[in-house]
Amino acid sequence: MKNLTIALDLEGTLIQDHREPRPRPGLHRFLDELHDLGARIVMMTTVEEAIFRVVAKGLVNLGAAPAWLEDVEYVSWERPCKDLSFIVGADPQSCWLVDDYEGYVCVHQKDRWIQIETFFAQGEEDRELERVALEILQKVSGHGLNQ
Ligand SMILES: [Mg+2]
Repeated sequence: MKNLTIALDLEGTLIQDHREPRPRPGLHRFLDELHDLGARIVMMTTVEEAIFRVVAKGLVNLGAAPAWLEDVEYVSWERPCKDLSFIVGADPQSCWLVDDYEGYVCVHQKDRWIQIETFFAQGEEDRELERVALEILQKVSGHGLNQ
């Protein structure tokens, strides 16, 4: 979808953490669905890029993520928060941030935040990525990009 940008957190959102990069249940499908929307997908994570690339390669090799994740756009940001205006060329009002941690959401961009429960020790019954994919679909279909 034109102009739609989705910024993804890594730890606690897509995987457990970079030392224990256990993929969240439904990860491959979730990423496929975002890709099928035609969205611009970027990573915004506290994990530095070189480590993220290793994690992404591992997930792809496991069959837990589509191959494009290895080369996905990585957006650098500065604390205190994941300001969506760091995404070059994107209007923050056309972006969504999927993140488990409210502390990294900029106060003035709370309306662009899609909250996801932190993934740490849940088992295969975790359905958060499925739920969030549906939420994104609902937000972008029929309601315009800004709602
Ligand atoms: Mg996180």
